[in-house]
Amino acid sequence: MVTENLKDVEAKIQAACDRAGRDRSEVTLIAVSKTKPIEMIQEAIDCGINIFGENKVQELVEKHDSLPESLEWHMIGHLQRNKVKMLPGRVKRIHSVDSIRLAEEINKQFGNAGLVAEILVEVNVAGEDTKFGLPMSEVEEFLRKISQFSAIKVRGLMTIAPYVEVPEQNRTIFCDLREKMVDINSKNIDNIYMDELSMGMTGDYEVAIEEGATYVRVGTGIFGSRIYI
Ligand SMILES: *Cc1c(COP(=O)(O)O)cnc(C)c1O
Repeated sequence: MVTENLKDVEAKIQAACDRAGRDRSEVTLIAVSKTKPIEMIQEAIDCGINIFGENKVQELVEKHDSLPESLEWHMIGHLQRNKVKMLPGRVKRIHSVDSIRLAEEINKQFGNAGLVAEILVEVNVAGEDTKFGLPMSEVEEFLRKISQFSAIKVRGLMTIAPYVEVPEQNRTIFCDLREKMVDINSKNIDNIYMDELSMGMTGDYEVAIEEGATYVRVGTGIFGSRIYI
């Protein structure tokens, strides 16, 4: 199943790139393996996938530690401060930074390990109450504050768009996030230059690519639906 699904996802990514006049190399597929067993991840690896996303630290650590070092892991879910110490040396990027206290802890733990954390700032573009992420209006001030942190390098912005029946409905969300990134880059804040946009999930990644996504996070479309227990 994973093999077939990956072919389908890859074809859709390529088609979205073609429609948008983008090169396929501008878009990185993160295979979101949360709740899924090692055997399914192995099937994806056998298809050439080596970039995975998890939303829980414990699960990321277990999978990271039991699979080859050559894989790249992205922390995409809400992150509690007391778990940050597990991440240095295990994650390529943290996509879900949305508070100063969390950024301080990341700065401290990665700094202690002699590493620099590459992060994306999570933005709640649609302003949904149920979602984590900074309101659009607070992004610039937040970036100005964390630009001082020596063990953090901001790489871009991330959003989880609303659940919609028709993916097209999220186009303005993705467009707004892209504009926010362009706007912030134009302000020349010291230490802040971003070029990554993590946006688009199974339901809407094609639209996200058309609007400039550089990371798409696809779970269900690759591994099938999740059963939570
Ligand atoms: C689970 C998850 C995804 C993948 O969702 P699908 O709809 O299964 O593709 C993407 N991003 C985040 C932050 C997630 O938690």
